[in-house]
Amino acid sequence: MTDRFATVRERMVQEQLLRRGITDSRTLQAMAEVPRHLFVDDAMQASSYGDHPLPIAGDQTISQPYIVAAMTQALQLLGDEKVLEIGTGSGYQAAVLSRLCTKVYTVERINTLLAGARRIFDQLHYYNILSRLDDGTLGWAEYAPYDAIIVTAGGPGIPDSLVEQLADPGRLVIPVGGRDVQELQLLTKEDGEIHIQRLESVRFVSLIGEQGWNG
Ligand code: SAH
Repeated sequence: MTDRFATVRERMVQEQLLRRGITDSRTLQAMAEVPRHLFVDDAMQASSYGDHPLPIAGDQTISQPYIVAAMTQALQLLGDEKVLEIGTGSGYQAAVLSRLCTKVYTVERINTLLAGARRIFDQLHYYNILSRLDDGTLGWAEYAPYDAIIVTAGGPGIPDSLVEQLADPGRLVIPVGGRDVQELQLLTKEDGEIHIQRLESVRFVSLIGEQGWNG
């Protein structure tokens, strides 16, 4: 997409993603395409491609570009997947995913955030994103199983509902740990077996719900 931030966005891809080892060409392409500045308040547009997270409404945050790319790359999407995201927030991560798979299902617990994200999806004509207001720790059973699941808020553990709703084979990425610091975990399901790999240390807002933190 050509807009006044196209050059800054390209620089973000070069300096923050390629240089730190994001190698998946489809992920890099999606990050170069999705207009991140549209997902933040007008006053923050100019800094929206910086190497840091950004505040959004309701005391929540959009992750740093590198973390969005690293989590996306970990899902190894090829194009024909159904992906479930928990924590729509601004909608930016869902937008990136929507360029890389058939359909994104995304769940958010804060209504104002969901409404804002939906407006931008429409504005960008990203019609392969279906969203819902709910407690995402319980997943979204109606459309399960999902080939990939991404949780963009940090929980004390991996919610059972999400593991159940993951396809076989399937990949799930989630920050797990304490309230302040977590480690990014990649769970893979294959031939009925579950493996968990620890990726890197991260800081996410809390995953709040029945199979997350209590508020
Ligand atoms: N992916 C988002 C990141 C948003 S921050 C983006 O790209 O902007 C994490 C989001 O998770 C917050 O909006 C928060 O409200 C939401 N969240 C926390 N617990 C949740 C739950 N149980 N179900 C759904 N959303 C949840």
